[in-house]
Amino acid sequence: MNNYILITGSAGFIGHHLTVKLIKLGFQVVGLDSINDYYDVNLKLERLKLQGFTIGEISYNKIIQNDKGAYFVQLDLADQENLDKLFKRFSISIVINLAAQAGVRYSLEAPESYIKSNIVGFTNLLECCRNYAIKHLLFASSSSVYGISESVPFKTTDRTDSPVSLYAATKKANEVIAYSYAHLYGIPCTGLRFFTVYGPLGRPDMAYFSFTKAILEAKPIRVFNQGNMLRDFTYIDDIVESIIRLMDIVPANIVTSARYKIYNIGNSKPVNLLDFITTLGNLLSIKPNMIYTEMQLGDVPVTFADTSDLNEVINFKPNTSLKDGLANFVRWYKDYYLSDENGC
Ligand code: NAD
Repeated sequence: MNNYILITGSAGFIGHHLTVKLIKLGFQVVGLDSINDYYDVNLKLERLKLQGFTIGEISYNKIIQNDKGAYFVQLDLADQENLDKLFKRFSISIVINLAAQAGVRYSLEAPESYIKSNIVGFTNLLECCRNYAIKHLLFASSSSVYGISESVPFKTTDRTDSPVSLYAATKKANEVIAYSYAHLYGIPCTGLRFFTVYGPLGRPDMAYFSFTKAILEAKPIRVFNQGNMLRDFTYIDDIVESIIRLMDIVPANIVTSARYKIYNIGNSKPVNLLDFITTLGNLLSIKPNMIYTEMQLGDVPVTFADTSDLNEVINFKPNTSLKDGLANFVRWYKDYYLSDENGC
């Protein structure tokens, strides 16, 4: 029997890039995504197309295959019955959970979708990991679990009990729920606290994406907290490389009985948003027009990863420069949204 890697959220930004890389490396991959409409569904379908799947074949709970032998299924993690059937059908050894309702601001508008995907869906997935004796679960957490912290850089040993948005609260909940499953059932769990991930085929709801759009359309950019925001922008390829290296680092916890470990995955070079927008403007050769406003509810002023734990175990840390990473993003953005081929 083949040992499959299940990637949830494979039509999402990070899931897409990871899926492409794992297929290229010759791993047996099963991708899963509900293809929700939180942002542009066409972008999700474009990613699946780039993974080699035929878009016309996609329908709910139908398993399809690409020409490299990888599988994809449109499925909601909240659908326990069909999720269980998927685990029954494939011999899955590693689960990488990237499916989630993402976004800080939207969690103030639609709290129920965070509970459905990030709590109910995540717990369903853990139940399958338990019932099918999965060898390693890696799951996306977020820098948002650190809340408004003045102690930088953020260490994985810092307190994370004061989330300032429901999104952050569900990410913290993922960590503690995973811990309990690791403790109770011995499922090895690795939590990945990502820091502001950016790159080609990125998420339209994220600031770097909307800044680019605004600059190109000569519209003003709303800069929150009067521009006093530091973000630890982390390039997508560095995230993917870190996840792949961590797949083989199965936690064996000596101190407690739980086989559980958390890592920060971030660039460790926070950038002021004003400098970020200037770099973007330079790359686009357009001077950005900025409007300064208050900090938004749920936001945090700083993110800054301490990645010493990560570097120690995988001998790698994210290191793509903002200039190089953003240049790749801008190239893709122009090609995808502004070329005649896409009719935009
Ligand atoms: P994304 O929104 O592009 O991808 C998530 C995918 O999950 C989407 O395609 C969505 O359709 C799918 N999904 C949502 N709910 C689902 C459900 N119930 N069942 C099945 N599929 C479902 O987001 P992303 O940027 O690729 O983020 C991946 C993970 O990393 C998420 O858990 C996110 O919270 C976390 N994260 C991302 C960042 C970042 O900067 N991108 C930072 C920190 C943490």
